[in-house]
This record gives sequence, C-alpha cells and structure tokens, in this order.
Amino acid sequence: MTFPELGLDESILKSIDEFGFEEPTPIQEGAIPHILEGKDVIGSAQTGTGKTAAYALPILHRLGGHKKGAPPRCLILGPTRELAAQVEDQFKSYGKYCAPKCCLIHGGVGYGKQIQELNDGADIVIATPGRLLDHIQQKNFDLRSIEVLVLDEVDRMLDMGFVDDVKRIIKLCNKNRQTLLFSATVSEEIKRLISFALKDPVEVTI
Ligand code: AMP
Repeated sequence: MTFPELGLDESILKSIDEFGFEEPTPIQEGAIPHILEGKDVIGSAQTGTGKTAAYALPILHRLGGHKKGAPPRCLILGPTRELAAQVEDQFKSYGKYCAPKCCLIHGGVGYGKQIQELNDGADIVIATPGRLLDHIQQKNFDLRSIEVLVLDEVDRMLDMGFVDDVKRIIKLCNKNRQTLLFSATVSEEIKRLISFALKDPVEVTI
C-alpha cells in the first residue's frame, strides 16, 4: 500500500514526500482508512511505530486548512509536555501545506501565550490534562466544538494518575465526536476507559 492509495489530500502527500516517507508503517496502513471513514479507533502501538502520523495525517485530511473564527475542532491529549511538543511538531510538519493553526497547552509555563493562541483561533489543541482543565475552569475555551478527540499514550496517562482528569475532559467533549485511543498496552482499566469513551471502535493492533 502507498500513501496516495490511502486517499490522503495532495497537500498532505506533498509534505510526506518531502519527509521522504516511502510507504505507510503497519499502524498507519491499519488505522488511516478507518479514521478517514470517521470511525472510532483503538490503536495498540508503541512509540517509534509511526503512530503519531497514523492519526495526524487523516486528521489533517479531515480538517483541511485553518477555519477563520471557528473554535478548535480537534483535541489531542497526552501524558507529558515533551510528548505534546513532539506531536505539535509533527502536525506542523505534515500540515505545512494545509496549515491549520495549532495550540500547545501544558503546565510549567505561563498562561499568556496559551490564551493568546486559543483566542487567535486554534484549529487543533494539543494538551496535557492538568493545564487543559485549568484553562477550561478559567473559561478560556470549552470543548463542545471538538469533532475529533485523540487520547495518546493512554497507558502512560493512567500510570501518571490522570484517569479522573481524562474522564472529566471526555465528558466535556461533544457527544458526536470521533474518538481515537492509542496505547502500547490495553489493561482492564484501559478497557473500561474504552467503553466509557469510544463508540463501536475498530481495533488496530500491530
Ligand atoms: P512515532 O511512533 O509517532 O513516535 O514516530 C516515530 C518516527 O517515525 C517519527 O520520527 C516519524 O518521523 C517517523 N515516521 C512516521 N511515519 C513514517 C513512515 N511512514 N516512514 C518512515 N518514517 C516514519
């Protein structure tokens, strides 16, 4: 299978080409068609398998470019600021030619720049749970406009004690959203989270 065969938009194919990716990795080949169809997906994949692109590419395809004046349409939740920053870098690289606006939200830094980016009309918010909830409580933004929710490295988020925060965030998102969950392992606790957050999911294991 090739990237053009997956049906991704030309602007995304161009940036993939510049990256020099020759073919999709197994998690990309398995997950991208279902994500493009709008299905909820459980991806069991470790870091290093190309899992970020497995959700970033079809999300970029689906969202297209920046929508002026529109509230955020996609939220990616991850365990650490390092992961969130890497995910933002990948969205910016793969999205170079469709150019949606990204906003990175994590603790350990001031609120000002994050509030500014939210107010500037971010399309994609990439966040860690604690700081995101702070922004929600301060009414800097709300999650009802979220069409695609990604829960990344869920095993690590739960190991770090974020389960209640993650559930609170899920409850605040639009019920008609698409939900994608990625985790290296799927424990009983993660299965409970899956039945809480995902609808009729397709499981892609590599
Ligand atoms: P991840 O599993 O998301 O942490 O990705 C690991 C690395 O794989 C990243 O540095 C990507 O740039 C790279 N990568 C993602 N997809 C591909 C691909 N189809 N071919 C080659 N490298 C890739």
